[in-house]
Amino acid sequence: MAALLLVTVTACGPSGGSDQKSLLHERVFIGGKTDQPGFNLHAAHTDRGLEVDLANYLGKEIGFKSKFHDVISAKREQELKDGTSDLVIATYSITPDRKEQVDFVGPYLVTGQGFLIREKYKGIKTEKDVAGKIICTVEGSTSAVAQLPRGTILHIEPDYSSCVDKLQGGAVQAVFTDEALLYGFVEQYKNSKHPLKVAPGITSGLINRYGIGLPKGHTADCKKLLRALRTYLTEEWAADVKVQLQALVHAYPGDWENRFRPDPEDLNRYSSCET
Ligand code: GLU
Repeated sequence: MAALLLVTVTACGPSGGSDQKSLLHERVFIGGKTDQPGFNLHAAHTDRGLEVDLANYLGKEIGFKSKFHDVISAKREQELKDGTSDLVIATYSITPDRKEQVDFVGPYLVTGQGFLIREKYKGIKTEKDVAGKIICTVEGSTSAVAQLPRGTILHIEPDYSSCVDKLQGGAVQAVFTDEALLYGFVEQYKNSKHPLKVAPGITSGLINRYGIGLPKGHTADCKKLLRALRTYLTEEWAADVKVQLQALVHAYPGDWENRFRPDPEDLNRYSSCET
């Protein structure tokens, strides 16, 4: 009887039957935002940004090669559920709603939200000024459901680069989303005809914590990723942020690590597994 029981337990796997085949095989397909400078920008056949650096580090530690493809905010849960993506690394905030559908490892970055405007624009100085303005944000994101002042006119696009195009063209007055993400666009457009800035002194809405998304039930993979992320945050994170998110670092001299680097305790608190 005891032997039989042992066989049954082993066949179910260490987590009582919920653990599935590993996602972290030789080539891992990652849903990313390939149009977000600073985090992940695909140009001239190369991917560049903090999330690319993170994926490479995880691959080196765990032993896989990553292959990014583009995913929009609204499709992230679906891609994980239907297996189009093994992982999602896409400025993807860990939220209670999303955690019901997918698992997360993180956070690897913490950010407030803000408004991206043209550098010379004087129309938005405080959050109240947003009322009556056309503000672009993205479908399926935490920014699209944030509380903005009454009278704000929301314009919704599938991705942030389309919002920034509209801002450049003058069709919207601001782009609203995570502050860290906006600084990537500030850097990209710094020498353009219409340089951009994050409206100073207005951080609105909720704190967003970026996590690596994975389909539910892969506890062993979750733990491997979490262990590797822990060392990434102490060994490489700061150097990578300095290179990839220069406008953010310049905006908060001496304080950017404090603001954007997650507390090590957050890792067990927000991840779907513990180490
Ligand atoms: N981090 C937020 C989210 O996951 C906004 C950025 C995005 O849409 O990727 O919804």
